Amino acid sequence: MSAELKRARALELSGAYGALEHYISGQPVVGQGRSFDITDPSTGKVIGKAHDAAASEVEAAVAAARDAFPAWSQRSGNERKAILHRIADLIVARADDIAALECLDTGQCWRFMSKAAIRGAENFRFFADRAPSASDGLALPSAEHINITSRHPLGPVAVITPWNTPFMLSTWKIAPALAAGCTVVHKPAEWSPYSARLLVEIAHEAGLPPGVFNTLNGLGETTGKALTEHPAIKAVAFVGESKTGAAIMKQGADTLKRVHFELGGKNPTIVFDDANLDAALDAAIFMIYSLNGQRCTSGSRLLVQRSIYDSFLSRAAERVKALKVGDPFDPATEVGPLIHQRHLDKVLSYMPLAASEGARILAGGARLDAAGDGYFVEPTLIGEAAQSMRVAREEIFGPVLTAIAFDNEADAITKANDVDYGLAAYLWTGDSGRALRVSSALETGMVWVNSENVRHLPTPFGGMKASGIGRDGGDWSFDFYMETKNVALSLGNHKTPRMGVSK
Ligand code: NAD
Repeated sequence: MSAELKRARALELSGAYGALEHYISGQPVVGQGRSFDITDPSTGKVIGKAHDAAASEVEAAVAAARDAFPAWSQRSGNERKAILHRIADLIVARADDIAALECLDTGQCWRFMSKAAIRGAENFRFFADRAPSASDGLALPSAEHINITSRHPLGPVAVITPWNTPFMLSTWKIAPALAAGCTVVHKPAEWSPYSARLLVEIAHEAGLPPGVFNTLNGLGETTGKALTEHPAIKAVAFVGESKTGAAIMKQGADTLKRVHFELGGKNPTIVFDDANLDAALDAAIFMIYSLNGQRCTSGSRLLVQRSIYDSFLSRAAERVKALKVGDPFDPATEVGPLIHQRHLDKVLSYMPLAASEGARILAGGARLDAAGDGYFVEPTLIGEAAQSMRVAREEIFGPVLTAIAFDNEADAITKANDVDYGLAAYLWTGDSGRALRVSSALETGMVWVNSENVRHLPTPFGGMKASGIGRDGGDWSFDFYMETKNVALSLGNHKTPRMGVSK
């Protein structure tokens, strides 16, 4: 399909929703709250509207999830597994529609979004297969008791997601919640709500009972806040900015909400002079400029050993200048627009800052000429930066790479860890001992050695420090969505202390 046809299909799909409704108890519900615009980042044009959820709509969605919980949690794991696999089948069948909507709504490139849709299906299959054993626990015998643990779904949970890769991230949170036996109220980001609507429709087409999975549109400070404060919501799975995570923790405090946070990052790619430099360059470029740099695990800091710094940076600059920026629907495009005018302004504000802090822009550094009203920025490489600079410490969340030189192993570790964040790190070296030493010293939840970010679903995903609380993936997801219970059975040979028997 040509880029034009893909865009036309995406516009047809988004237009079909008119004003995008909420989805409660298996039905579209016309929103009564204040409306907000949804824009196409490639053109800056308004493509639709959605409504912030009114208080009564939040109540209705939470009530639906609460009412559906007993029956859904009591379905056998095999039944849940079958429905989740059907969801995955339908995602695969509609992968092109999902990718097209995602390109239109977020400006992410087709070459990545077609894979993200398939990855969404894989998320459902992975957790579907584990649904039958999600409740299983351990037998922990002592001399006098047999202890048996089991896990039980928490109840209705809120899933609040960001705008960068909305479909994939939503499946990553919602699939394990449903597999565990929880019911869900999902609030997608207000800047990119369309693919969430497709997901909830697909889930119902696959046979998910009404009320098990509900979607509310709305803003963070209203709809999102109301969900995180609602007493019937037992947990909040949140993906977004660190400062929003802090706000949600406060909002959920009165109801002792269980929280799972996947937050921001300022992830280092560390290149030692003994590394395979060709491979390191490919990975360093991919990890910051793919997904328009709007990626929590982006390698947004490039730490390069001083002996190879100049040559590595000049090769990197050539590659950055050659990146193909343009229409996200064109399969040749490598970098699309940023999500929104406000985000474009934020990313562009770092360009003069870099210069005023004493760094040097080696490639890019401006809004893209001929971008019209689209939110395009030139892929940017900032060199000669120091770890103390804001461009080296703050999450810019765009196609902007900040490069810093280091002298030796100790200096690399100090600089890598000298940020508030601790999500991921990428380490390039030919020395296996150094790989083990450095990865052990890095304060990040994930380290890839001689590799870009390649996800393996059974492994834990999540960050330290300001990058998050909790882990997803494998069994870690079920630990969040379920309560663990211990039952101690006496073997009949223990002595219960007697009280009230002394004269
Ligand atoms: P954001 O925090 O602004 O918004 C995320 C979601 O939270 C949106 O749905 C928003 O409406 C909602 N929200 C905002 N304020 C809220 C409040 N007070 N109460 C409840 N909900 C509220 O984040 P964003 O700008 O949409 O996304 C970009 C951020 O997400 C980046 O920092 C990025 O690193 C992070 N992210 C992290 C991961 C990860 O796995 N660690 C993955 C993707 C994105």
